[in-house]
Amino acid sequence: MNVAEEIILSPDQVHWLSKEQAWHYRILPKNKSKDRFSLYFDSSHDRTELEAELEILTGLTIQLEPLSTEQVSRLLSKYYLKDNAAQGATQLQAQHQSDDFLITLISEAKNLKSSDIHIEVYESKCRVRIRIDGMMVERYLLKKDEYPALINKIKISANLDIAEKRLPQDGRINFKHQDHQFDIRVSVLPTLYGEKVVLRLLSNDATNIDLYKLGFSENDLENYLQGVKRPTGILLISGPTGSGKTTTLYATLKLLNKETRNILTIEDPIEYTLEGINQVQLKESIGLGFASALRTFLRQDPDVIMVGEIRDPETANMAIRAALTGHLVLSTIHTNSAWGTVSRLIDMKIPPFLVASTLNTTVAQRLVRLLCPACKKQEAFDAKLYPRQFKPYQQVSHHFVPTGCEACYYTGYKGRKAVYEVIPIDQELAIEIKNENMYIQELLRERGVQTLAENAFGLFANGDTSLEEIYPLLFNY
Ligand SMILES: [Zn+2]
Repeated sequence: MNVAEEIILSPDQVHWLSKEQAWHYRILPKNKSKDRFSLYFDSSHDRTELEAELEILTGLTIQLEPLSTEQVSRLLSKYYLKDNAAQGATQLQAQHQSDDFLITLISEAKNLKSSDIHIEVYESKCRVRIRIDGMMVERYLLKKDEYPALINKIKISANLDIAEKRLPQDGRINFKHQDHQFDIRVSVLPTLYGEKVVLRLLSNDATNIDLYKLGFSENDLENYLQGVKRPTGILLISGPTGSGKTTTLYATLKLLNKETRNILTIEDPIEYTLEGINQVQLKESIGLGFASALRTFLRQDPDVIMVGEIRDPETANMAIRAALTGHLVLSTIHTNSAWGTVSRLIDMKIPPFLVASTLNTTVAQRLVRLLCPACKKQEAFDAKLYPRQFKPYQQVSHHFVPTGCEACYYTGYKGRKAVYEVIPIDQELAIEIKNENMYIQELLRERGVQTLAENAFGLFANGDTSLEEIYPLLFNY
């Protein structure tokens, strides 16, 4: 089976087997109906014997589908946490009494460079998952009766109403423990079986963000820095949620942060605090939105303004006005491509001539997971695996595929890198914007602009990532 078709089990599916059954028989659930149960099994085991035994055990007609021993091990470790879960559970009980589980959990997630902790409740159990490099990894299973105390502790720490269980609530915890100090955004959502809690771990420390290490190619970085050095105009970074746009913005602000500059930001949430910069948290409930903050900022004599996101015409309008009146504006926008930003702004009712005269640089970015160096496997590469019509930028005879090991939580990946597409807007491109010309590939090629696809392909050809990871990017070009 191809790795691209990784088997994903839903929590419901996982429940069809107990942990003991799954490990004992080395099986995984596939489909279940009233009288039929289909499962994956380890192909090194005796099929007939297993089938007979499972039919007796379940009283259902059994259908078996083979998987390699390695695959079964990986899936079992992923979905039926064996030793880890047992350890986790006892650890939890031991520490629950001392009320330390929450602190352990948060510290541990932070050490694993996780961005979010999800605490979820189901009919009979609760689980704690953490997001590492964008992927959810199961970490603890809790007994259902251990759950309310944990939720209450979180709510109290975040100044939320513990009696309110029917409405969503949002809060913030300032976490201090040993050498850790950072803010946590807390979101509580009532679900069928109880409240689901998501803790977003915000980094208060931007010291490790370095514009030179995010993933820019040399040429892209040079173009980007030219835009950053211009005293006015709008510099926009586009990409879907979770593509690392904010990190790029913070790295840029760090570079711009000089005593001689007045820098103001309006953010939601403030993910990093930067000394010397005036950061404002968006609070729409009291009328402090991106647009209204921008209006106030303009009376505060700023040099550089960072707006978390341009998502409505009013904010777009204010950002343009700020740029026209001699400020450098940095922001993000939700579009798929760097040039797509132009049409997005025009859609937001900004006249094309104003976009042309203010847009300074437009950037698109994505995050690509890097293969775990401890377990990536080299294989011969067949060009048939590329998306149809895709023309590779160079010949690739061998590539690496993910396998999974303890070091990468059986995901096959470890760490991420940004890929960019940077378009500096010069006079000729400004004219194309004014004319609303969306087909400018030739002009970009003349300027040596590397596309997202080209940059992502570079990581693949270099063996840093897999084809499946960059596949969606190749498809678009
Ligand atoms: Zn690994």
